Amino acid sequence: MEIIHVSAECYPYAKAGGLGDVVGALPKYQNKLGHIAKVVIPMYRTDFLYSNQFEVVHKGGFGMAHYWFNYTVIKESTNQLGFDLYLIDINNLIDREKIYGYDDDIERFAAFQIAVVDWISKWEHTPDVVHVHDHHAALIPFMMQSCFAYKHLSSVPTVLTIHNAQYQGWMDWNNSNYLPEWDKWKWGLLDWNKTINSLACGIRCATKVTTVSQGYLNELRYNANGLEMLFEYEKGKCSGIINGIDEEVWNPATDKYINNEYSVEDAEEGKRTNKKILCDQFSLDKEKPLIIFIGRLVGEKAADLLPQAISDSLYHLDGEMNFLILGSGDPKIENQLQQLNGKFTGYYNSQTGYNEKLAHQMYAGADFLLMPSRVEPCGLNQMYAMRYGTIPIVRNTGGLKDTVKDFGEKGGFGICFTNATVWDITYSIHRAVELYKESEKVEEIRSQIMQIDHSWEYSAGQYIDLYKTL
Ligand code: ADP
Repeated sequence: MEIIHVSAECYPYAKAGGLGDVVGALPKYQNKLGHIAKVVIPMYRTDFLYSNQFEVVHKGGFGMAHYWFNYTVIKESTNQLGFDLYLIDINNLIDREKIYGYDDDIERFAAFQIAVVDWISKWEHTPDVVHVHDHHAALIPFMMQSCFAYKHLSSVPTVLTIHNAQYQGWMDWNNSNYLPEWDKWKWGLLDWNKTINSLACGIRCATKVTTVSQGYLNELRYNANGLEMLFEYEKGKCSGIINGIDEEVWNPATDKYINNEYSVEDAEEGKRTNKKILCDQFSLDKEKPLIIFIGRLVGEKAADLLPQAISDSLYHLDGEMNFLILGSGDPKIENQLQQLNGKFTGYYNSQTGYNEKLAHQMYAGADFLLMPSRVEPCGLNQMYAMRYGTIPIVRNTGGLKDTVKDFGEKGGFGICFTNATVWDITYSIHRAVELYKESEKVEEIRSQIMQIDHSWEYSAGQYIDLYKTL
């Protein structure tokens, strides 16, 4: 089967979060299952672009609004990623340093999607499935069905995977001329509350829709940033497939980013060494439990609650633990977290920014990972943490609920709480501190979580099964 994944991110070329991890891993595992999975993303100016070989495979052009855009498709030459990676270059529009965050992102991703469809339409054959990810690629099923120039693609099955339904790619109706000439009778497919809503359109037009966990799919029926009714209406074509983790990238026994590699047999020693290095680097106390947070500093992750919850914990539990934070996002939260650096020196450190290497070192050196998320479609951090023997402290939501079981329950191994409140977080931190005192129990949990199978093999196969039904 030939599958074309279309996405805004793909690790290691361009990653801002879990979407990049998934699109950098799923195709590799689909190829291992004997299929041909390829990835197309925009050509940003990332380090990967300049340090690897690419070859031109296609040149084309299309009109968008009143402008003509030329595009070039280039392909990574060595197949080092385990799948063919294609990049769409549109001069001056896509080739920027950041993935997102520009005023003209709407135009950028509209143009990217048109170029992808235009390129596929020029092939001598058609792919078996076009698998689009999130709103940045969600207009593609519509374009394949309702744009006159691409009608011959209308019989190609499409799958939309929703990694995050908070962001929907809203577009003013004045910009409807961004789309290639389309059948105006189909306007209702684009519209949601008087705007063009890319994600809603993708949900309606894709042959099948998946979310990255079953728990998240259930939640979307009553909490989907305005699309609840649509999820209810389209539930027949929706299913949840949990993400896996790329065990070739996330493996403490082979991870080149970490200072001391270890496996389940020597995890105690291995983690202790990594923790010491991390604590020395950030002036923390290696004798105390180390609790980390890694992620986007936004409301979805309940990062706004962290400054208060951390302050309260350090005051009331008399500095019985350390915190190390790595993240970027809302400047107000970044500032608040930075301010705590001066207040709790020796117990707390916050690093602002995106740092892949440090993230790996933190998963390896920490005792606990905190994820108080208000919304968590799947969550990869908790799975990475477990792989590295770090106990997750999570709110019971979405994918966190599907992957973590409280150690108070039979067979449980994490710390779970119900509400995204400062009180629930501090109480859970208190439980972590108490658990840490029982070193045998911690060792037992560590060994258990490091052996949980979160590999992609199973989920990659579930996608293949889904494609076969199309
Ligand atoms: P989301 O995609 O919602 O941000 P996920 O848990 O699905 O959350 O995936 C987050 C991914 O991004 C993980 O690989 C995590 O390690 C990584 N990550 C998030 N923030 C940072 C950061 N500041 N530095 C390094 N890695 C980060």
